[in-house]
Amino acid sequence: MTELRWNPTLREWVSTASHRQNRPLMPQDWCPFCPGSGRVPDNYNVYIFPNDFPAFSIPPEVPSIDGDEFYRVKPSVGKCDVVLYHPDHQTSLPELPMAHLTHLVRTWRKRFVELKATPGIHYVLIFENKGAAIGVTMPHPHGQIYAFPLIPPLVKKELDSARAHYRSYHRCLFCRILEKERQDGRRIVAENRAFTAFVPFYARWPYEVHIYSRRHLGALDQLTPSEEKALAEILKWLTLKYDHLFQMSFPYMMLMHQAPTRGRYPYYHFHIEFYPPLRSKKKLKYLASVETGGGTFLNDSLAEEKARELAATSPRTRREVA
Ligand SMILES: [Zn+2]
Ligand SMILES: [Zn+2]
Ligand SMILES: [Zn+2]
Repeated sequence: MTELRWNPTLREWVSTASHRQNRPLMPQDWCPFCPGSGRVPDNYNVYIFPNDFPAFSIPPEVPSIDGDEFYRVKPSVGKCDVVLYHPDHQTSLPELPMAHLTHLVRTWRKRFVELKATPGIHYVLIFENKGAAIGVTMPHPHGQIYAFPLIPPLVKKELDSARAHYRSYHRCLFCRILEKERQDGRRIVAENRAFTAFVPFYARWPYEVHIYSRRHLGALDQLTPSEEKALAEILKWLTLKYDHLFQMSFPYMMLMHQAPTRGRYPYYHFHIEFYPPLRSKKKLKYLASVETGGGTFLNDSLAEEKARELAATSPRTRREVA
C-alpha cells in the first residue's frame, strides 16, 4: 500500500510505501538485470522498465488510511522507472563509451518528455544511487526515474530562492553562482564548452559536485544535440575522476534538478548534483543528529581543497569536446 501523508509541521508530503519492505536483497549469484535472465530483453542497449516496488503508480493504490483536512492523505499518483545503463553487469557510468553515454542522455530526455506529458505528473526526478554504501540492492549499473504528483521540497526551496532572486535582481540565481564560480576558479573540477562542474562554495558533503549548464535552460528537453554530447562527456569525466581518485568504483547519489513539468519557471536552471557518501576511501559520512534533526550539515572539509584533489585527478580539466 502506498500513500502521501502531509506533515503539517514541515509543510511537506511523506511517501509511505509499506510494500517496499519486501524488496529483495542483493542477489548473490543471479542478476535479473543481465540479458538472459528472462526479466529483461536478451538484446538491449539502454533499457527502461517499471520498478517492481513502486512508491508511485498510475492508477494509484488505495491509501491504507483515511485522512482529514488536518492530517491530509493523497493517493501516490506517479511512475517509478528503472533505467539499465548497459547490458554488462560491470560497466558502470564512467566506463560507458561516449556514444553509449550520449545515447543514455537522449533516453533520459525521451522519457522525461513522455512523463512531462502524463496527466498528474508535476515533477520528474532522474537519479542514480550507486554502491552498497547507499543501500543499493541491485549491483547492475542502473539509475531510476521518479515521476511525482508534487514538487519535492528541496527543489521547491531552490525554486523559491530562484524566484526571489529573479524578482530582486532580474537575473537567474544559478547563472550568478556559475559566474561567481568561474571568476573564482578554485572550486572548479572540470569544464567543457557547455557544462561546468564544481564543488559548491556551500557544499554539504566533502566530495559534493554540481554540474551546471553554461547556457540558461530549465530541463533536458531544451538541450541541443551538441549539448547532449557535452553532458555525456562531463558526466564521464567527473565519475572517472571519482573512481581514479579513490581507486575504486566510487559510490554516489546523483540527482538531476530540472524545472517542474507544470507551470512556467523561467528563472530555474538545469543542473545535476552529486553527493558521494564517503569522506575518504573507507570512511562514510553519516547523517547524524545535527544533519537529520537540525537540517544543518557539518562538513569537516573545505570545498576548495576537495575541488583541488578532484581537479588534479585525470581526466584533466578544461578539455574541449572534439
Ligand atoms: Zn547484471
Ligand atoms: Zn540561469
Ligand atoms: Zn539543485
